[in-house]
Amino acid sequence: MIILANGCIWPLEELLPLFNELKGSLKIFEKITSIKENISVHEQGTRKLSFSESIELKDVSFSYEDQKILSHVNLKLEKNKKYLLKGASGAGKSTLMKLLSQTYYEYEGAITYDTMDLKKISAEDFNNHVAFIYQDVFLFEDTMLNNLTLYRDLDQKKVEKAVVEAGLADFLYDHPDKLNRVLRENGQDLSGGQRQRVAIARALVKDVDIVFSDEATSSLNPELGAQVESTLLGLPCTLIAVSHRYYPGVTEKYDGVIEIKNGKIQLYPIEDYFSEEANVS
Ligand code: ADP
Repeated sequence: MIILANGCIWPLEELLPLFNELKGSLKIFEKITSIKENISVHEQGTRKLSFSESIELKDVSFSYEDQKILSHVNLKLEKNKKYLLKGASGAGKSTLMKLLSQTYYEYEGAITYDTMDLKKISAEDFNNHVAFIYQDVFLFEDTMLNNLTLYRDLDQKKVEKAVVEAGLADFLYDHPDKLNRVLRENGQDLSGGQRQRVAIARALVKDVDIVFSDEATSSLNPELGAQVESTLLGLPCTLIAVSHRYYPGVTEKYDGVIEIKNGKIQLYPIEDYFSEEANVS
């Protein structure tokens, strides 16, 4: 009897946690299936990007569910100028970059490139004109050339020019295989600075109009960070960059600071922003 009772009671005890797990899973299932009804399907844009003057935000508001990130914001960014994006952690810097780069469409107000509504621009064409540089650069075990061109058939001269402009020339041309040098898995044989320069060269071979850079130099030592940021500031395109570092003699080369605070945006000329000592850190 005791053995039989043991055989019945223990499995019952094991069932209790499983029951809780099932209850939790049901909640997750309900959440996933209910989201489906709320998804607004965005109609794909078909127009080509034309960007020769400015990007404008007109009365833009954006929230994540009930968390307001931007509230009736107006902003005008000029072509080929370099902007530093500032604000406390969680203020909405990454969100603003995502709004400007067609990641989110569910905002109120209008975002225009020249006079064209961003929502009307084809995603494929838009992506051909922008580049993103993050702290982590994805590199694969293949030649430097393929890592730069991402297997597109690009003009060799253009690739070489990008390599030089990104500051990779010495590193590449000192090696006998040059652009055919094979990188180790995820670029383990490159320094942090070289990895970021590969990301910059990728942007340059694409001939992009806009570079979005999110903490591209924060994992580098101050000297390398300053060099990479300086390279970014010399690119012939519009730059919108989040950077917490202040590099004396380099940071001043930005044209303006976009500051996000309490859902509002202020645009400062660089000299005004850094004239207040508190903003230099
Ligand atoms: P920052 O880049 O200035 O640190 P973010 O734009 O990343 O700020 O985030 C702004 C706020 O929005 C934060 O409170 C963050 O937790 C929240 N947030 C960011 N992304 C999402 C998301 N996909 N869903 C819900 N909330 C988000």
